[in-house]
Formats: sequence, structure tokens, C-alpha cells
Amino acid sequence: DDVSFAYEDGTNAIRTMSFEMNPNEKVALVGHSGAGKSTIVNLILKFYQPQSGEIYINDQSYSELSHQDVREHISLVFQENELFSSTIYNNVAYGVEKPNEKLVIEALKKANAWEFVKKLPKGLKSEVGERGVKLSGGQKQRIQIARAIMKDAPILILDEATSSLDSRSESLVQQGLENLMNNRLVIIIAHRFSTIQNVDRVFVINDGRIVDADNPKALSKKDGIYSELLKYQVEGNKKLLANYDLY
Ligand code: ADP
Repeated sequence: DDVSFAYEDGTNAIRTMSFEMNPNEKVALVGHSGAGKSTIVNLILKFYQPQSGEIYINDQSYSELSHQDVREHISLVFQENELFSSTIYNNVAYGVEKPNEKLVIEALKKANAWEFVKKLPKGLKSEVGERGVKLSGGQKQRIQIARAIMKDAPILILDEATSSLDSRSESLVQQGLENLMNNRLVIIIAHRFSTIQNVDRVFVINDGRIVDADNPKALSKKDGIYSELLKYQVEGNKKLLANYDLY
């Protein structure tokens, strides 16, 4: 509600912004780099306090809640998040009150991760992180997805991968994500238009403001930042296909 935020160095990142997101809604934040998308997420996670305005979860004001209270309701799947230096079991069970092996395996299955985990010599007890087994980017993401499935929080924040996984890995991650995205509010920092096509609403962010908010189809027909970004990506794909004489 009328949130403004500037970083310590004085950079105004969010300028009097108001919006509401609904349970089970899928919302994509789209905009050029530096527009304010990560700052919105940081504010929702209560990493920072707004200089003015207020954020609410249900009808509770953030100023009355601790960072911990807020975080309980939110799962994160971020590309750059590393796993803890511990076992796969602990990485998936993290933050859950009464985990057990059956639930962890179930979550790994839904995340499309059980196939590779069960083949590791120590299975669920395999250590990951610096001294543990080497996992690929896609495998690490699927462990994160399993953790989020296990936590089952009503809000999921997803920072979509910018650096690309190989296509098979990409599609395994995508399937895992689809299982995770059901029945919760999902906020996506979106980089790929293939994902954005399936969301309910897109917030177009520019210079700390929401400059448009609509469904993806309606936005693609309007002149503006969204259709401009869409055009770049379509052109990029055409060039790629042309290289293989597919377009
Ligand atoms: P996006 O996620 O859309 O790329 P950000 O939310 O990261 O945009 O950035 C919004 C604005 O805030 C930009 O001007 C950026 O340079 C600035 N910014 C982001 N993080 C910091 C920080 N830690 N300290 C100072 N300025 C920051």
C-alpha cells in the first residue's frame, strides 16, 4: 500500500507502489534490468523496510511481524541459491517440523529429483555442497523445488533461471516446477516468455513503478515495454531457428 523504498546510497528503487496479489494467483514481474523486480521481492521477504507505505500479508501489517513470521509463509526457488553443506535429506527437510523419509522421497519424486538421488551411492544421505557430491545446476534446482514442495508454504517466489540449462535438464526442472506451482500464490521474476504465457497477470515494472498490469495476451497487443521485450525474444528465437534452417 503506497510503498516507497530507497537503498542506503539514496537510489530510489520503488516509487509509491500499490498492488494486491490473491491466493493461488500466478503473477510475473517483467521489466528491464534495474527496474525494481528484485527489490519488490526483497521487500516482500522483509529483508528491507519501506521508507513509507505498508505491506500486508492477509490483513496483518509487516511492521507487526518479524522476518521469521513472514518467511514461514514463503518458499523460494532462486537460481543462485546454493544448497547447504549437508545431506540431501536435510536439504529437502529444512524448515519442516516433522519430516520423515517417506515425505522427503515423495517431495523428491514430485520435483523430478528422485531418479538421480536414488542412484547416488549414499542416496538421501549423500552430502552436497563444497565437499559433497557434484550436482549439475538443474539437479540443484530440483532439490530446491523438492524443499519447497516439502515446506508447502502458501506463497512461492521463483527467480527464473537466466543462464540456461541444457534442454533435457530444463524440461525436468519445468515439470518439477509445475507440480510445485499448483494451489499457491506464485510470484515469478520472469525472464522467459514461454513461462509468462501461463500466468494470470503480468506486472510490467519500470523505474520503480508498475506501468502496466494485465494478462499476457492483452499486454502483447499493447505498445509498451512488454511488447518490446517480447519482440526481442521472438527475434532472438527466429535467428536461432534460422541457423538450423528451421524458420
Ligand atoms: P531488477 O531486479 O528489476 O533488475 P533491482 O530491484 O535489482 O532491479 O534494482 C532496482 C534499482 O535499485 C536499480 O537502480 C538498482 O541499481 C538499485 N539497487 C539494487 N540493489 C541495490 C543495492 N543493494 N544498493 C543500492 N542500489 C541497489
